[in-house]
Amino acid sequence: MTRAIPLFATLLAGCAAYEDRLPVAQPDQITAIVSRTLHGDTRCPEHARIAFAAALGTYASVTDGRARLQVRWDLDNASLMTLSTEPIVLCVDTLPPHAGGKTDGDVIKLAPLACPDEYACALHEIGHYLGMQHLEHGHGVMAERNPSRSFSDADFVELFRLGLYAPHRRPDFTTVTLTIDPSIPRIEPEYPHE
Ligand SMILES: [Zn+2]
Repeated sequence: MTRAIPLFATLLAGCAAYEDRLPVAQPDQITAIVSRTLHGDTRCPEHARIAFAAALGTYASVTDGRARLQVRWDLDNASLMTLSTEPIVLCVDTLPPHAGGKTDGDVIKLAPLACPDEYACALHEIGHYLGMQHLEHGHGVMAERNPSRSFSDADFVELFRLGLYAPHRRPDFTTVTLTIDPSIPRIEPEYPHE
């Protein structure tokens, strides 16, 4: 028991600190899945394609697979008509006022030349595509000016609002504490021996 108590207390403390700054998930708010294939402009340079694909992978990771987006670079003048109802990614030279990107519904426009960090710009525009709003203040992917490469707590709150993120839930932690050390004595009467 002397070994079990510090472990259990440490895990509980870690859990509480984590949930302090994030909303607690409700079962009906964690089920959103966005699964789409975007069609990318064949004019996009290789470095822009790499940054955009990496940003899609990052969303899959931070949402635990809830935002499953992929891109196929098959959009050109010939395919534009048949793909006009699909989500598309266009590369353009300039966007007023010197923006690195702009997203309107299912159309993401990237201006690689105007963007100081193509990966950060891609994260920001994909965020808009998923429905994320600009952060009112502070740093983060969805900051209106100089968006960052890493998700802030405020970004996670936005993802949570959209049902694309859920903090890990308490029952998982309880299970872990009971299986860490098989030599922990039986805890009775809450966990009767079978
Ligand atoms: Zn924006």
